[in-house]
Amino acid sequence: MSTEGNAGKVAIITGGSSGIGRASAIALARQGLKVALVDIKEEKALEVKQEIEHLGGSALVLDTDVSDEQRMKASYQAVIDHWGRLDVVYANAGINGKVEPIEDLSANDWDSTLATNLRSTFLATKYAIPHMKKEGGSIIITSSINGTRKYRGFGMSAYSASKAGQVAFGKMAALELARYKIRVNIVCPGAIKTNIGENTFKEEDELEKIRIPIEYPEGSQPLEHKPGSPEQVADLVYFLASGQSNHITGSVIHIDGAESLL
Ligand code: NAD
Repeated sequence: MSTEGNAGKVAIITGGSSGIGRASAIALARQGLKVALVDIKEEKALEVKQEIEHLGGSALVLDTDVSDEQRMKASYQAVIDHWGRLDVVYANAGINGKVEPIEDLSANDWDSTLATNLRSTFLATKYAIPHMKKEGGSIIITSSINGTRKYRGFGMSAYSASKAGQVAFGKMAALELARYKIRVNIVCPGAIKTNIGENTFKEEDELEKIRIPIEYPEGSQPLEHKPGSPEQVADLVYFLASGQSNHITGSVIHIDGAESLL
């Protein structure tokens, strides 16, 4: 794909300091977009900024909790003040949250997972609209196969509810925003090799208790027999961000090597 049409274009990526967000930030920067990394892990985001600059790209780091409305609003304004436009938003930041059977899950833990994964998606979309209204844009949301058709992981009710909510929200947003030529698409990865589980699963017996397999058994991803890579998701994200996908909106795209069909 040519980087030509991307010259001067600007993307905001939430959760851009690691995993799928980091790979997508680098993929978009390679294609000529300027990239704002919105994340709570500022130091890691600064490392990604350096990587992007090393490739000859431009990046901005905004130390922001995606569930905090005032911080999100201020971060979007900072991007506009810095680069003067906004073309792509990738609402990707997310957590597994507390993994616990429903009867033990506290309402606060439920709220916290929903805030980080779903409220953040609403905020990321809402504050993009004024800046995309005139010339259109592309909003991409990272949901999960847990939000659509594969309910993996006993104990992940809050996560799955937040991911299903992102799908419904993304479809409504696609309908509402079509009049502004703002496209909204939802990406549903299966297992992808990142650090997302690092604070979720502390001990093996805890894993055993909630019956989540530690390894993905042979064949659990029929296409490659192993979890996908963040770079594979990033290729899809770039396609959805680019003009190559300009007739695609309101779509829910699984990227899981057919894991969710088993
Ligand atoms: P990751 O942990 O590597 O990246 C998540 C990023 O989000 C991190 O940079 C983290 O700092 C950031 N983040 C978390 N809470 C935040 C907050 N409150 N404010 C700002 N930033 C915050 O994990 P990942 O696997 O790359 O996850 C990215 C997205 O992909 C998530 O929405 C996740 O649910 C989704 N997903 C991941 C998988 C998988 O197997 N890895 C599968 C399906 C969906």
